[in-house]
Amino acid sequence: MKQPGFIIEHCRQNCPKATREWRELLEELPSNLASLNIEETLQKKFGQVNHHHLLKICLAGCPNGCSRPDIKDFSISGYVTPQTTDNPCIACHACVRSCLENAITIEKNGVVVIDKSKCLSCGNCLSVCPSGTLAAGESGWNLRIGGRMGRHPRFASFVKQAQTDEEVISWVIETIQDYLNNGGPQERFTHFVEQKI
Ligand code: SF4
Ligand code: SF4
Ligand code: SF4
Repeated sequence: MKQPGFIIEHCRQNCPKATREWRELLEELPSNLASLNIEETLQKKFGQVNHHHLLKICLAGCPNGCSRPDIKDFSISGYVTPQTTDNPCIACHACVRSCLENAITIEKNGVVVIDKSKCLSCGNCLSVCPSGTLAAGESGWNLRIGGRMGRHPRFASFVKQAQTDEEVISWVIETIQDYLNNGGPQERFTHFVEQKI
């Protein structure tokens, strides 16, 4: 079967930890990328297109990254930022126990303090709060680029956050288009973007 020039990997379905629904992106990305003729351009660049030439796009529902997005060309990971509401805290400390980053402190007066420098926006604390004191704030996608394994492995570098699927798709298309137009002969995507990040 003819390859489209890219591979999309993803988390397991229906994971309760997911902060964002990624299945729509999984459906939408292939049709949006089809017009770029990625495979055809890769053939011109490399002659024969092997597995390591294919662009790897990875979708993850939360920062846990079970689908290993950080070693892919495109890393797209959902996030949700917790915020406090006016609902009184009952000091059950469930949120404190749920936070693997030790980012939450409950003060003696019942004020909930979230250390934003530690918070990974995984949403664990929201799901365990029985009082509604913690609620979902901003939610979206962390976009990273340029991860790989091999002789010189590297983690994908953070580029920006996107709030909507449309923003994610536009970013992927623009980035791939740049590579197809401006990447040199025999130049893999990961090496092309490494110069820019
Ligand atoms: S990355 Fe998050 S949403 Fe995806 S499978 Fe792992 S825990 Fe579940
Ligand atoms: S979102 Fe995750 S990392 Fe941030 S405070 Fe809640 S449990 Fe901790
Ligand atoms: S889980 Fe909710 S109610 Fe319990 S300590 Fe945290 S903020 Fe307060």
